[in-house]
Amino acid sequence: MAEEKKVTKMEDIVSFCKRRGFIFPTSEIYGGLANSYSYGPYGTELKNNIKKMWWKKFVQKREDIIGMDGPILLNTKLWEASGHISGFNDASVDCKNCNKRFRADHIVKELTGEDMEGELEKMTKTLQAGLKCPECGKSDWTEVRNMSQMFQTEMNSVDGPIYLRPETAGAIFSDYKNVIDSMRVKIPFGIAQIGKAFRNEIVARNFIFRIREFEQMEIEYFIEPETKWEPLFEKWLDEQEEFAISIGAKKEDLRRYEHPKAKLSHYSKKTIDTEYNFPFGFGELFGLAHRGDFDLTQHSKFSGQKLDYFDATTNKRYTPHVLEPTVGLDRLILTAICAGYTEEKLEDGERIVMKFPKAVAPIKVAVFPLMKNKPELVAKAKEIFQNLSEDFMCEFDDNGNVGKRYRRQDEIGTPYCVTVDFDSLEDGTVTVRDRDTMQQERIKIDELGKYFGEKLK
Ligand code: ATP
Repeated sequence: MAEEKKVTKMEDIVSFCKRRGFIFPTSEIYGGLANSYSYGPYGTELKNNIKKMWWKKFVQKREDIIGMDGPILLNTKLWEASGHISGFNDASVDCKNCNKRFRADHIVKELTGEDMEGELEKMTKTLQAGLKCPECGKSDWTEVRNMSQMFQTEMNSVDGPIYLRPETAGAIFSDYKNVIDSMRVKIPFGIAQIGKAFRNEIVARNFIFRIREFEQMEIEYFIEPETKWEPLFEKWLDEQEEFAISIGAKKEDLRRYEHPKAKLSHYSKKTIDTEYNFPFGFGELFGLAHRGDFDLTQHSKFSGQKLDYFDATTNKRYTPHVLEPTVGLDRLILTAICAGYTEEKLEDGERIVMKFPKAVAPIKVAVFPLMKNKPELVAKAKEIFQNLSEDFMCEFDDNGNVGKRYRRQDEIGTPYCVTVDFDSLEDGTVTVRDRDTMQQERIKIDELGKYFGEKLK
């Protein structure tokens, strides 16, 4: 039996992701760009798979949720209405001795254990009372001040600045009217969207956990204001957890954090984050907030348009309330990688194996000819690759001995490897090897499509 060791260090994950083509530091040949990353070939497949799984669970399989895809650049008034232009800030503080910049609430919490988010003066006083800079050990702090997280650009020199969206939800609210006018939605219903969001984080860190350009998967779920929302809220929490488990997270690595009432925005009835136990500690993966009617009311006020709902069965017109389940795609990818990464001691050596659930795995089937200098084996393996590629993401590999090829596929989490040998040419069967059990079985070439169709369903 293989003995498993789970990874505990972030450095192992970061170097693995670069070495095996999942995630690279971006623009590296030009010296990079702070905390910005590109998804490599396997990372891109992984990302697409997780997006597809989310869309399937929350849009395709639900009668009550529909999708949309809004732009990154939106009318600036939208961000005035949502409060982002005046209030989407993070507290920042600099060490005057070493010039290092910190997110003030994070550094205060790290040094004192106390959560002072939003209390600028208290944080300044606490830091200036003698707390030491973790970089240089001196205590010489600036005042704590708010910094906008909005990235700004312009379309022309006349209309003033426009912003890169800091969250995807904005377009859902501003297109709410178009959606309800064009679709026959019945409350409760949700609008889902996946897309890039941009935040000028004071300190981007922990690999792809906190970056400045990231992807969000958000739903605005509209409900009748008088409805009993608590059970729906609970159900959303469970579904978020279910989704995390479906991409490989273990239940014991997930926990819930309820935002204290005193820290909630005035309009929010409840906010709960679902956190994952990353190698650097627990961090927010999903958010779930009851946002009342704040968004639709604000956008109605700023746009002068009616953004309400008419219920034809009760003849009532009202502004719906909204539950907002949200998740960062990059954080889900990091979760899948951290949860999957396993070092195993075997009887004949060691292996790194990515224990991705099959739906998450970037490559589903790898196809090998036993030897690369035997044209008849190569031709048969290529034919199998072509056939299977119609339905599954496959990889062809003829490099090195088969044992090494198995290890390479284990590392990227490929659930199945197919080897074409001389018997294949005689009896029309191939060896199929399973990533987790490492067991091998002979399967008829003609039946491979059906076999993998069932195994990878
Ligand atoms: P945090 O407290 O970690 O800054 P947040 O509460 O500001 O996150 P939300 O505004 O609720 O985050 O955003 C929704 C989701 O988007 C989060 O649950 C998280 O998964 C993801 N997310 C937010 N900021 C980032 C970021 N800088 N990089 C990657 N993902 C992010």
